[in-house]
Amino acid sequence: MKKLLPYFYLLKTVKFAFLGALLAGLIYAATSGFGLAYILQDILPKLYGEVDISNWALLLLVAQLPLVFSLRAIGGYLNAVLITYCGLKILEEIRLRVFGKLQYLQLSFFQKHNSGDLLSRSMNDTAILQQTIIQGSNDLLVQPFTLLAAVVFLVWTALQNTGLGFVLLFLLMVPACVMPIRHLARKLIQRAKELQKEMGVVTEYERENLTAIREVRAFNLEDEQIEGFRKLLQKFFSLQLKVTKYFKAIAPSIEFITSVGLALAIFYARKTDITLEEVVPLVVALYFAYDPIKKIGVLHGQFKKGLASLERLETILDEPIAITDDPDALAVEKVEGEIRFQKVGFSYGEGPVLKDIDCVLEAGRVYALVGPSGAGKSTFANLVPRFFEISTGSILMDGIDLHKIKLRNLRQQISLVSQDPILFNDTIYNNILLSRPGSSEGEIHEAARKAYAHSFITDFENGYDTQVGDRGARLSGGQKQRITLARAFLKNAPILILDEATSALDGESERQIHDALVELVRGKTVIIIAHRFSTIQMANMIFVFDEGKIIDRGTHDQLHKSCSFYRNVYDNRLS
Ligand code: ADP
Repeated sequence: MKKLLPYFYLLKTVKFAFLGALLAGLIYAATSGFGLAYILQDILPKLYGEVDISNWALLLLVAQLPLVFSLRAIGGYLNAVLITYCGLKILEEIRLRVFGKLQYLQLSFFQKHNSGDLLSRSMNDTAILQQTIIQGSNDLLVQPFTLLAAVVFLVWTALQNTGLGFVLLFLLMVPACVMPIRHLARKLIQRAKELQKEMGVVTEYERENLTAIREVRAFNLEDEQIEGFRKLLQKFFSLQLKVTKYFKAIAPSIEFITSVGLALAIFYARKTDITLEEVVPLVVALYFAYDPIKKIGVLHGQFKKGLASLERLETILDEPIAITDDPDALAVEKVEGEIRFQKVGFSYGEGPVLKDIDCVLEAGRVYALVGPSGAGKSTFANLVPRFFEISTGSILMDGIDLHKIKLRNLRQQISLVSQDPILFNDTIYNNILLSRPGSSEGEIHEAARKAYAHSFITDFENGYDTQVGDRGARLSGGQKQRITLARAFLKNAPILILDEATSALDGESERQIHDALVELVRGKTVIIIAHRFSTIQMANMIFVFDEGKIIDRGTHDQLHKSCSFYRNVYDNRLS
């Protein structure tokens, strides 16, 4: 309960709707707990007591019932609608928070949590938490108030005539109700947590399957995939059933205890000569006293479910953003582009991946990183935009420690062209534009021209307005790469990091991309993770990586002569 409190302040943004909902809830509670019983108590003796009663008087008397019921209905309705409004608003806010947090978390977080799991958390867990907050914020006030109204009635009536027996009976039953609630709720939280986790597994399976549609067909994995999914669903099903079993057992167990209470009450009434007219209102009041207890019990279960989801959301919300701006970081607008690694060490968590890296990348020159796979080349390149935080040493840009440059500014100075370009599901135009928002149409066309993309784009029926599809699915590999090159031309950042594609392109695309690259690297500090001889040739200097170290450096000719390791890698991997 305490853990949920910080989330209740989210209600602040919808305070008027929430206050309205509470008011409506109070009307509902008062009419339920007190009003009905009171009216019955008022009219029953009149109805049966007086022999001579005119039709009009009779009608007026019984009309009180629909009056109270309609008040109760209106209160209940307004309460439900307004509280749902608040709940939806809160859900929006929580989802936005989780999504916002995901934008800033460091990349290593996403290696620990697969995207299916994260999707499930941000969709399902937020929905459960929302449900808890809605029900909680509503019932938490309305139910105890209904209970209070009913108890006030019972005590009041008891003091007036029928003695304390009823009230005592009622009070005796309350602790009896608490026991099953506690027991079931304990069972519930564990199962709810497992269920939510399993939901993540199911989502991830579906996501993975959808991203590998081609592989599934190519390797004839359809049946295996279906079988795998069926097994997951079975497990999910049984967990879901368990949660339902415990959750739904709360209300009936309390109802059973209630009925025992009612039976005892009636028994007591019969023994003490209380008349029927006196009993009916009391039974109604008892009923409305037990009902909130039942609802509070269910609410308790709902809270347990909410807590399980909250814990999963807090993994995201409480994760520290490891890569942040130093308080005294500078807003560097434009760098020359000199990069200096000083005794840099880095680890993803286990063993060191980069050790003692010392090197200077002069502004405006091209550096190729060469070495066997797993040697640390991509890691080296990823440290420049601070995708990961170095463990030891320092990296300087134009002599300024990277930590002293605002992250936003730093990343503005760097263009990234990766080997697996991802396009957003939007038009080609917007996909290029995103690298420098606010660019003119002319600038975008110019960038596309330089990237040899303009002509194929204009060949499309819709030209720049062509939708690229999910992840750029409607474009060929070469086309996607040229669009990412166009992004880099448009951004025109002084530093360029290029993770060269290993996959073969058709000769025409290959040549055009090469020509575009020659133009793109001009005047920039460039780090290329190189796989092709033609690209290596562009480099002013080559760093040879092995096991997280730069073991040699020089031009291609120098290295090919003097470095047997380079010769080996080069002759084996490049052609
Ligand atoms: P290269 O680019 O030379 O192929 P990488 O820089 O990608 O090498 O990888 C260097 C080492 O770090 C490898 O042993 C790899 O398994 C490990 N590694 C790379 N990325 C991660 C990561 N995100 N989490 C954990 N280990 C990683």
